[in-house]
Amino acid sequence: MIKRIKLPAWFVIVLLLAGITFGINQVVAKVLEESSESNVPKEKVVSSSVYPGLNIKTKTKETDLYTLSVSQPYTEFNKVNKPIDEWVDKQKKEFTLGIKKSQNMLEKNGIRAHLNIQAETEKLADKIYTLELQAYQITGGANGMTKMKSFVIDLNQKKLLHLDDVFQLDEKAIKDIQNLITAELHSNQKISSYISDDLVKKALNTPEKWKWSVSPKNVTFYFDEYEIAAGAAGAIKVEIPMKKVKPYLNEKFAKKIDVKIPEKENSKEEEEHSEDKVKLDTDGKYVALTFDDGPHPEVTPRILDTLKKHDAKATFFMLGSQVEYYPSLANKVEEAGHEIGNHTMNHQDLTLLQPSKIREEVQKSNRIIENATGQTSTLLRPPYGASNGNVKQVAKHMETPMAMWSVDSLDWKSRNATAVNEEVMSNVAPGSIVLLHDIHPSTADALPQLLTSLEKQGYQMVTVSQLLELREKKGVGPYYGKIG
Ligand code: ZN
Repeated sequence: MIKRIKLPAWFVIVLLLAGITFGINQVVAKVLEESSESNVPKEKVVSSSVYPGLNIKTKTKETDLYTLSVSQPYTEFNKVNKPIDEWVDKQKKEFTLGIKKSQNMLEKNGIRAHLNIQAETEKLADKIYTLELQAYQITGGANGMTKMKSFVIDLNQKKLLHLDDVFQLDEKAIKDIQNLITAELHSNQKISSYISDDLVKKALNTPEKWKWSVSPKNVTFYFDEYEIAAGAAGAIKVEIPMKKVKPYLNEKFAKKIDVKIPEKENSKEEEEHSEDKVKLDTDGKYVALTFDDGPHPEVTPRILDTLKKHDAKATFFMLGSQVEYYPSLANKVEEAGHEIGNHTMNHQDLTLLQPSKIREEVQKSNRIIENATGQTSTLLRPPYGASNGNVKQVAKHMETPMAMWSVDSLDWKSRNATAVNEEVMSNVAPGSIVLLHDIHPSTADALPQLLTSLEKQGYQMVTVSQLLELREKKGVGPYYGKIG
Protein backbone atom coordinates (compact mmCIF):
# COMPACT_ATOMS: atom_id res chain seq x y z
CA MET A 1 0.00 0.00 0.00
CA ILE A 2 1.38 3.36 -0.96
CA LYS A 3 1.07 6.01 1.61
CA ARG A 4 0.68 9.45 0.18
CA ILE A 5 2.04 12.16 2.31
CA LYS A 6 -0.03 15.22 1.97
CA LEU A 7 1.66 18.38 3.10
CA PRO A 8 -0.60 20.96 4.64
CA ALA A 9 -0.95 24.13 2.54
CA TRP A 10 0.63 26.35 5.20
CA PHE A 11 3.71 24.21 5.18
CA VAL A 12 4.13 24.60 1.43
CA ILE A 13 3.78 28.36 1.74
CA VAL A 14 6.37 28.53 4.49
CA LEU A 15 8.71 26.45 2.41
CA LEU A 16 8.24 28.71 -0.61
CA LEU A 17 8.77 31.83 1.46
CA ALA A 18 11.91 30.42 2.96
CA GLY A 19 13.15 29.69 -0.54
CA ILE A 20 12.46 33.21 -1.73
CA THR A 21 14.07 34.78 1.33
CA PHE A 22 17.08 32.59 0.86
CA GLY A 23 17.37 33.72 -2.76
CA ILE A 24 17.12 37.36 -1.81
CA ASN A 25 19.69 36.90 0.89
CA GLN A 26 22.07 35.38 -1.60
CA VAL A 27 21.70 38.39 -3.88
CA VAL A 28 22.14 40.87 -1.05
CA ALA A 29 25.14 38.99 0.22
CA LYS A 30 26.65 39.04 -3.24
CA VAL A 31 26.20 42.80 -3.63
CA LEU A 32 27.60 43.50 -0.19
CA GLU A 33 30.53 41.29 -0.89
CA GLU A 34 31.22 43.19 -4.05
CA SER A 35 30.77 46.58 -2.52
CA SER A 36 33.17 45.90 0.29
CA GLU A 37 35.74 44.39 -2.07
CA SER A 38 38.35 42.43 -0.18
CA ASN A 39 38.04 44.98 2.49
CA VAL A 40 36.89 42.65 5.19
CA PRO A 41 40.19 41.29 6.41
CA LYS A 42 40.32 37.55 6.08
CA GLU A 43 43.41 37.27 8.17
CA LYS A 44 43.21 35.59 11.48
CA VAL A 45 43.46 38.10 14.27
CA VAL A 46 46.75 37.52 15.99
CA SER A 47 48.02 38.81 19.25
CA SER A 48 51.34 40.51 18.57
CA SER A 49 49.67 43.91 18.33
CA VAL A 50 50.36 46.46 21.07
CA TYR A 51 46.61 46.94 21.15
CA PRO A 52 45.31 43.56 22.37
CA GLY A 53 42.40 42.40 20.22
CA LEU A 54 43.07 44.99 17.54
CA ASN A 55 45.02 44.57 14.34
CA ILE A 56 45.68 46.83 11.42
CA LYS A 57 45.84 46.25 7.73
CA THR A 58 47.13 48.55 5.05
CA LYS A 59 45.95 48.07 1.51
CA THR A 60 47.37 50.03 -1.36
CA LYS A 61 46.46 50.22 -5.00
CA GLU A 62 47.93 51.93 -7.98
CA THR A 63 46.48 52.53 -11.43
CA ASP A 64 47.21 55.05 -14.18
CA LEU A 65 44.41 57.24 -12.88
CA TYR A 66 44.84 57.05 -9.15
CA THR A 67 46.68 55.76 -6.11
CA LEU A 68 44.97 54.59 -2.96
CA SER A 69 46.08 53.61 0.50
CA VAL A 70 43.77 52.40 3.22
CA SER A 71 44.92 51.61 6.75
CA GLN A 72 42.15 50.02 8.68
CA PRO A 73 42.08 48.55 12.16
CA TYR A 74 40.09 45.36 12.53
CA THR A 75 39.04 42.95 15.24
CA GLU A 76 37.89 39.36 15.32
CA PHE A 77 34.31 40.51 15.68
CA ASN A 78 32.38 41.14 12.47
CA LYS A 79 29.88 43.26 14.34
CA VAL A 80 32.65 45.68 15.26
CA ASN A 81 34.33 45.60 11.84
CA LYS A 82 31.19 46.13 9.83
CA PRO A 83 30.51 49.81 10.50
CA ILE A 84 34.18 50.58 9.92
CA ASP A 85 34.09 48.72 6.61
CA GLU A 86 30.95 50.53 5.64
CA TRP A 87 32.47 53.92 6.27
CA VAL A 88 35.62 53.00 4.36
CA ASP A 89 33.51 51.69 1.47
CA LYS A 90 31.57 54.90 1.36
CA GLN A 91 34.76 56.91 1.03
CA LYS A 92 35.94 54.64 -1.75
CA LYS A 93 32.67 55.02 -3.61
CA GLU A 94 32.78 58.80 -3.37
CA PHE A 95 36.36 58.68 -4.57
CA THR A 96 35.41 56.55 -7.58
CA LEU A 97 32.63 58.99 -8.45
CA GLY A 98 35.03 61.92 -8.06
CA ILE A 99 37.50 60.32 -10.42
CA LYS A 100 34.81 59.70 -13.01
CA LYS A 101 33.86 63.37 -12.85
CA SER A 102 37.37 64.70 -13.18
CA GLN A 103 38.89 62.01 -15.37
CA ASN A 104 39.40 64.39 -18.30
CA MET A 105 41.07 66.98 -16.16
CA LEU A 106 43.33 64.40 -14.52
CA GLU A 107 44.38 63.02 -17.89
CA LYS A 108 44.93 66.47 -19.35
CA ASN A 109 47.10 67.60 -16.44
CA GLY A 110 48.89 64.29 -16.18
CA ILE A 111 48.22 63.93 -12.46
CA ARG A 112 46.82 61.03 -10.51
CA ALA A 113 44.01 61.18 -8.01
CA HIS A 114 44.69 59.88 -4.52
CA LEU A 115 42.71 58.49 -1.64
CA ASN A 116 44.31 58.03 1.74
CA ILE A 117 42.56 56.58 4.74
CA GLN A 118 44.52 56.53 7.95
CA ALA A 119 43.69 55.60 11.49
CA GLU A 120 44.79 56.83 14.85
CA THR A 121 44.32 54.47 17.74
CA GLU A 122 44.04 55.36 21.38
CA LYS A 123 43.67 52.97 24.24
CA LEU A 124 41.11 54.10 26.81
CA ALA A 125 41.11 51.11 29.10
CA ASP A 126 41.64 47.39 28.85
CA LYS A 127 40.30 46.45 25.38
CA ILE A 128 38.49 49.76 24.99
CA TYR A 129 39.79 51.87 22.15
CA THR A 130 39.05 54.99 20.23
CA LEU A 131 39.74 54.79 16.51
CA GLU A 132 39.93 58.03 14.65
CA LEU A 133 39.72 57.56 10.90
CA GLN A 134 40.60 60.24 8.46
CA ALA A 135 39.99 60.06 4.73
CA TYR A 136 41.77 62.47 2.47
CA GLN A 137 40.95 62.45 -1.19
CA ILE A 138 42.10 64.54 -4.06
CA THR A 139 40.46 63.88 -7.39
CA GLY A 140 41.24 67.06 -9.25
CA GLY A 141 41.89 70.72 -8.72
CA ALA A 142 44.34 71.93 -6.13
CA ASN A 143 42.37 71.13 -2.99
CA GLY A 144 41.65 67.77 -1.55
CA MET A 145 38.84 66.89 0.79
CA THR A 146 39.10 65.48 4.29
CA LYS A 147 36.47 63.46 6.11
CA MET A 148 36.68 62.21 9.63
CA LYS A 149 34.99 59.49 11.58
CA SER A 150 35.58 57.96 14.94
CA PHE A 151 34.65 54.67 16.51
CA VAL A 152 34.79 53.87 20.19
CA ILE A 153 34.97 50.14 20.61
CA ASP A 154 34.75 47.90 23.62
CA LEU A 155 36.12 44.46 22.85
CA ASN A 156 35.06 43.11 26.25
CA GLN A 157 31.51 43.68 25.12
CA LYS A 158 32.37 42.96 21.46
CA LYS A 159 30.66 46.11 20.30
CA LEU A 160 30.90 49.70 19.24
CA LEU A 161 29.99 52.08 21.99
CA HIS A 162 27.15 54.40 21.16
CA LEU A 163 26.32 57.80 22.50
CA ASP A 164 24.17 56.26 25.27
CA ASP A 165 26.96 53.97 26.40
CA VAL A 166 29.25 56.89 27.01
CA PHE A 167 27.05 59.87 27.83
CA GLN A 168 24.07 60.47 30.02
CA LEU A 169 22.10 62.90 27.94
CA ASP A 170 18.99 64.73 28.88
CA GLU A 171 17.84 67.88 27.14
CA LYS A 172 19.89 70.14 29.33
CA ALA A 173 23.02 68.06 28.87
CA ILE A 174 22.60 68.17 25.11
CA LYS A 175 22.23 71.93 25.18
CA ASP A 176 25.25 72.33 27.44
CA ILE A 177 27.42 70.22 25.18
CA GLN A 178 26.23 72.08 22.10
CA ASN A 179 27.22 75.33 23.82
CA LEU A 180 30.60 73.98 24.83
CA ILE A 181 31.34 73.00 21.25
CA THR A 182 30.15 76.31 19.81
CA ALA A 183 32.20 78.28 22.34
CA GLU A 184 35.27 76.23 21.59
CA LEU A 185 34.84 76.75 17.84
CA HIS A 186 34.67 80.50 18.31
CA SER A 187 37.63 80.65 20.63
CA ASN A 188 39.88 79.10 17.99
CA GLN A 189 41.21 82.05 16.03
CA LYS A 190 42.47 79.93 13.19
CA ILE A 191 39.00 78.79 12.24
CA SER A 192 36.50 81.10 13.91
CA SER A 193 36.28 83.47 10.94
CA TYR A 194 35.39 80.61 8.56
CA ILE A 195 32.60 79.20 10.66
CA SER A 196 28.93 79.41 9.79
CA ASP A 197 26.76 79.43 12.91
CA ASP A 198 23.82 78.09 10.96
CA LEU A 199 25.79 75.11 9.77
CA VAL A 200 27.10 74.47 13.28
CA LYS A 201 23.57 74.47 14.60
CA LYS A 202 22.46 72.10 11.90
CA ALA A 203 25.38 69.74 12.50
CA LEU A 204 24.80 69.63 16.26
CA ASN A 205 21.04 69.46 16.15
CA THR A 206 20.72 65.68 16.30
CA PRO A 207 22.97 64.06 18.92
CA GLU A 208 22.71 60.67 17.18
CA LYS A 209 24.55 62.19 14.26
CA TRP A 210 27.38 63.68 16.27
CA LYS A 211 30.79 62.41 15.33
CA TRP A 212 32.65 62.07 18.56
CA SER A 213 35.32 60.18 20.39
CA VAL A 214 36.53 60.04 23.92
CA SER A 215 39.84 59.74 25.71
CA PRO A 216 40.69 60.10 29.39
CA LYS A 217 41.71 63.69 28.63
CA ASN A 218 39.10 64.95 26.16
CA VAL A 219 35.91 64.39 24.37
CA THR A 220 36.48 65.21 20.72
CA PHE A 221 33.88 66.22 18.15
CA TYR A 222 34.54 65.99 14.43
CA PHE A 223 33.30 67.94 11.46
CA ASP A 224 34.04 67.13 7.85
CA GLU A 225 35.55 69.69 5.59
CA TYR A 226 32.78 72.12 4.46
CA GLU A 227 30.37 70.72 7.06
CA ILE A 228 30.39 73.78 9.30
CA ALA A 229 32.94 76.11 7.74
CA ALA A 230 34.48 77.30 4.52
CA GLY A 231 36.94 74.91 2.93
CA ALA A 232 39.92 76.94 4.11
CA ALA A 233 39.27 75.70 7.65
CA GLY A 234 39.64 72.07 6.53
CA ALA A 235 38.17 69.25 8.56
CA ILE A 236 37.63 70.39 12.12
CA LYS A 237 38.30 68.65 15.39
CA VAL A 238 37.01 70.19 18.60
CA GLU A 239 38.50 68.93 21.82
CA ILE A 240 36.61 69.60 25.02
CA PRO A 241 38.66 68.98 28.16
CA MET A 242 37.40 66.08 30.25
CA LYS A 243 36.77 68.17 33.32
CA LYS A 244 34.17 70.17 31.37
CA VAL A 245 32.30 67.14 29.98
CA LYS A 246 32.68 64.77 32.86
CA PRO A 247 29.31 65.71 34.39
CA TYR A 248 27.62 64.41 31.23
CA LEU A 249 29.36 61.07 31.08
CA ASN A 250 27.68 57.82 31.82
CA GLU A 251 29.00 56.98 35.29
CA LYS A 252 29.83 53.39 34.57
CA PHE A 253 31.81 54.36 31.54
CA ALA A 254 33.60 57.22 33.32
CA LYS A 255 34.74 54.78 35.96
CA LYS A 256 36.05 52.41 33.34
CA ILE A 257 38.23 54.89 31.55
CA ASP A 258 39.58 56.39 34.74
CA VAL A 259 41.54 53.19 35.06
CA LYS A 260 45.15 54.16 34.93
CA ILE A 261 46.40 53.37 31.47
CA PRO A 262 49.86 51.89 31.61
CA GLU A 263 52.49 53.81 29.70
CA LYS A 264 53.91 52.16 26.67
CA GLU A 265 57.28 50.72 27.50
CA ASN A 266 59.86 53.06 26.11
CA SER A 267 62.79 51.90 28.12
CA LYS A 268 64.27 49.72 25.48
CA GLU A 269 67.59 48.34 26.50
CA GLU A 270 70.27 49.85 24.38
CA GLU A 271 71.61 46.75 22.83
CA GLU A 272 74.70 47.22 20.79
CA HIS A 273 74.42 45.51 17.49
CA SER A 274 77.67 44.49 16.07
CA GLU A 275 76.80 45.53 12.53
CA ASP A 276 77.49 42.59 10.35
CA LYS A 277 80.22 44.25 8.38
CA VAL A 278 80.32 41.75 5.61
CA LYS A 279 83.23 42.26 3.30
CA LEU A 280 81.73 42.46 -0.13
CA ASP A 281 83.60 41.75 -3.26
CA THR A 282 82.96 44.62 -5.67
CA ASP A 283 82.79 42.25 -8.63
CA GLY A 284 80.24 39.98 -6.97
CA LYS A 285 76.75 39.26 -8.12
CA TYR A 286 74.49 41.06 -5.68
CA VAL A 287 70.80 41.69 -5.50
CA ALA A 288 68.80 43.65 -2.90
CA LEU A 289 65.41 42.23 -2.01
CA THR A 290 63.06 44.76 -0.48
CA PHE A 291 59.81 44.18 1.38
CA ASP A 292 57.31 47.03 1.60
CA ASP A 293 54.18 47.96 3.57
CA GLY A 294 54.78 45.77 6.64
CA PRO A 295 55.40 44.61 9.22
CA HIS A 296 52.55 42.13 8.99
CA PRO A 297 51.88 39.84 11.97
CA GLU A 298 51.70 36.65 9.91
CA VAL A 299 53.63 37.26 6.73
CA THR A 300 56.71 39.05 8.10
CA PRO A 301 57.70 36.23 10.51
CA ARG A 302 57.49 33.72 7.65
CA ILE A 303 59.72 35.90 5.49
CA LEU A 304 62.21 36.29 8.33
CA ASP A 305 62.35 32.50 8.73
CA THR A 306 63.06 31.90 5.06
CA LEU A 307 65.70 34.64 4.88
CA LYS A 308 67.41 33.13 7.90
CA LYS A 309 67.48 29.66 6.38
CA HIS A 310 69.23 31.07 3.32
CA ASP A 311 71.44 33.41 5.29
CA ALA A 312 70.09 36.23 3.13
CA LYS A 313 69.81 39.88 4.11
CA ALA A 314 67.03 42.15 2.92
CA THR A 315 65.60 45.62 3.41
CA PHE A 316 62.17 46.22 4.90
CA PHE A 317 60.47 49.50 4.05
CA MET A 318 58.04 49.82 6.89
CA LEU A 319 54.94 51.92 7.31
CA GLY A 320 54.76 53.90 10.54
CA SER A 321 51.09 52.96 10.83
CA GLN A 322 52.03 49.27 10.87
CA VAL A 323 55.06 49.60 13.16
CA GLU A 324 52.89 51.45 15.65
CA TYR A 325 50.80 48.28 15.98
CA TYR A 326 53.61 45.75 15.74
CA PRO A 327 56.73 47.30 17.27
CA SER A 328 58.12 44.00 18.52
CA LEU A 329 57.93 42.61 15.01
CA ALA A 330 59.85 45.60 13.66
CA ASN A 331 62.41 44.97 16.35
CA LYS A 332 62.71 41.32 15.30
CA VAL A 333 63.47 42.38 11.75
CA GLU A 334 66.17 44.68 13.04
CA GLU A 335 67.60 42.06 15.37
CA ALA A 336 67.85 39.58 12.51
CA GLY A 337 70.29 41.98 10.87
CA HIS A 338 68.11 43.29 8.09
CA GLU A 339 67.94 46.89 7.06
CA ILE A 340 64.93 48.97 7.96
CA GLY A 341 63.83 51.73 5.65
CA ASN A 342 61.08 54.28 6.03
CA HIS A 343 58.00 53.94 3.81
CA THR A 344 56.30 56.95 5.49
CA MET A 345 53.55 57.02 8.08
CA ASN A 346 50.42 56.54 5.96
CA HIS A 347 51.41 55.61 2.40
CA GLN A 348 50.27 58.84 0.86
CA ASP A 349 51.38 60.02 -2.56
CA LEU A 350 53.93 62.54 -1.28
CA THR A 351 53.97 64.48 -4.53
CA LEU A 352 50.45 65.68 -3.75
CA LEU A 353 51.38 67.06 -0.32
CA GLN A 354 52.73 70.37 0.92
CA PRO A 355 56.37 70.26 2.06
CA SER A 356 55.41 70.50 5.75
CA LYS A 357 53.09 67.50 5.35
CA ILE A 358 55.76 65.52 3.54
CA ARG A 359 58.12 66.12 6.43
CA GLU A 360 55.46 65.07 8.89
CA GLU A 361 54.76 61.82 7.00
CA VAL A 362 58.45 60.94 6.99
CA GLN A 363 59.42 62.12 10.46
CA LYS A 364 56.46 60.59 12.27
CA SER A 365 57.28 57.22 10.81
CA ASN A 366 60.97 57.64 11.61
CA ARG A 367 60.17 58.31 15.25
CA ILE A 368 57.94 55.25 15.52
CA ILE A 369 60.59 53.05 13.89
CA GLU A 370 63.21 54.47 16.23
CA ASN A 371 61.08 53.78 19.27
CA ALA A 372 60.43 50.24 18.14
CA THR A 373 63.89 49.23 16.98
CA GLY A 374 66.29 51.66 18.57
CA GLN A 375 67.60 52.37 15.07
CA THR A 376 67.05 55.26 12.73
CA SER A 377 65.86 54.17 9.33
CA THR A 378 68.62 54.57 6.81
CA LEU A 379 66.61 54.87 3.62
CA LEU A 380 63.40 56.37 2.38
CA ARG A 381 61.10 54.76 -0.14
CA PRO A 382 58.29 57.13 -1.11
CA PRO A 383 54.97 55.28 -1.59
CA TYR A 384 54.28 54.35 -5.24
CA GLY A 385 57.84 55.45 -5.96
CA ALA A 386 56.38 58.93 -6.41
CA SER A 387 58.89 61.68 -5.87
CA ASN A 388 59.44 65.32 -6.80
CA GLY A 389 61.65 68.24 -5.76
CA ASN A 390 59.89 68.65 -2.41
CA VAL A 391 60.24 64.98 -1.54
CA LYS A 392 63.89 65.10 -2.49
CA GLN A 393 64.43 68.12 -0.26
CA VAL A 394 63.01 66.26 2.72
CA ALA A 395 65.16 63.22 2.01
CA LYS A 396 68.18 65.47 1.76
CA HIS A 397 67.35 67.27 4.95
CA MET A 398 67.01 63.95 6.79
CA GLU A 399 70.06 62.51 5.07
CA THR A 400 68.22 59.41 3.95
CA PRO A 401 68.82 58.32 0.36
CA MET A 402 65.71 57.47 -1.64
CA ALA A 403 65.65 53.87 -2.73
CA MET A 404 63.27 52.90 -5.51
CA TRP A 405 63.43 49.58 -7.38
CA SER A 406 64.39 48.21 -10.77
CA VAL A 407 62.48 44.92 -10.65
CA ASP A 408 58.85 44.88 -9.62
CA SER A 409 57.84 41.35 -8.62
CA LEU A 410 54.19 42.36 -9.20
CA ASP A 411 53.38 40.30 -6.12
CA TRP A 412 50.69 42.84 -5.24
CA LYS A 413 48.98 42.04 -8.52
CA SER A 414 49.48 38.34 -9.14
CA ARG A 415 49.25 37.15 -5.52
CA ASN A 416 50.74 33.98 -6.89
CA ALA A 417 54.03 32.41 -5.85
CA THR A 418 54.90 30.96 -9.27
CA ALA A 419 54.17 34.24 -11.03
CA VAL A 420 56.31 36.15 -8.53
CA ASN A 421 59.23 33.82 -9.15
CA GLU A 422 58.94 34.05 -12.92
CA GLU A 423 58.62 37.81 -12.88
CA VAL A 424 61.72 38.32 -10.74
CA MET A 425 63.90 35.68 -12.38
CA SER A 426 63.23 36.96 -15.89
CA ASN A 427 64.17 40.55 -14.99
CA VAL A 428 66.85 40.32 -12.36
CA ALA A 429 70.46 41.37 -13.01
CA PRO A 430 73.47 42.00 -10.79
CA GLY A 431 72.72 45.23 -8.91
CA SER A 432 68.93 44.90 -9.07
CA ILE A 433 66.68 46.20 -6.36
CA VAL A 434 63.61 43.95 -6.21
CA LEU A 435 60.23 45.16 -4.97
CA LEU A 436 58.24 42.69 -2.87
CA HIS A 437 55.66 43.12 -0.10
CA ASP A 438 55.68 41.35 3.24
CA ILE A 439 51.91 41.60 3.53
CA HIS A 440 50.85 38.94 1.01
CA PRO A 441 50.98 35.28 2.08
CA SER A 442 51.73 34.41 -1.57
CA THR A 443 54.95 36.41 -1.35
CA ALA A 444 56.03 34.40 1.68
CA ASP A 445 55.13 31.27 -0.34
CA ALA A 446 57.32 32.44 -3.22
CA LEU A 447 60.41 33.27 -1.21
CA PRO A 448 62.00 29.82 -0.61
CA GLN A 449 62.01 29.03 -4.35
CA LEU A 450 63.08 32.57 -5.24
CA LEU A 451 66.09 32.44 -2.94
CA THR A 452 67.04 28.99 -4.23
CA SER A 453 66.85 30.18 -7.86
CA LEU A 454 68.89 33.30 -7.11
CA GLU A 455 71.51 31.28 -5.26
CA LYS A 456 71.76 28.83 -8.15
CA GLN A 457 72.60 31.72 -10.44
CA GLY A 458 75.28 32.85 -8.02
CA TYR A 459 73.49 35.81 -6.46
CA GLN A 460 74.12 37.00 -2.97
CA MET A 461 71.32 38.83 -1.19
CA VAL A 462 72.38 42.10 0.43
CA THR A 463 70.68 45.16 1.86
CA VAL A 464 70.01 48.22 -0.28
CA SER A 465 72.60 50.26 1.63
CA GLN A 466 75.23 47.60 1.01
CA LEU A 467 74.33 47.61 -2.66
CA LEU A 468 74.53 51.40 -2.89
CA GLU A 469 77.85 51.37 -1.10
CA LEU A 470 79.23 48.81 -3.52
CA ARG A 471 78.14 50.95 -6.43
CA GLU A 472 79.56 54.01 -4.66
CA LYS A 473 76.28 55.83 -4.77
CA LYS A 474 76.28 58.90 -2.60
CA GLY A 475 73.62 61.55 -2.01
CA VAL A 476 69.87 61.14 -1.87
CA GLY A 477 69.22 59.64 -5.26
CA PRO A 478 66.60 58.44 -6.09
CA TYR A 479 68.31 55.13 -6.82
CA TYR A 480 66.66 52.44 -8.87
CA GLY A 481 69.12 49.59 -9.28
CA LYS A 482 69.85 47.59 -12.39
CA ILE A 483 67.55 45.64 -14.62
CA GLY A 484 68.33 42.54 -16.67
ZN1 ZN B 1 54.05 50.61 -0.49
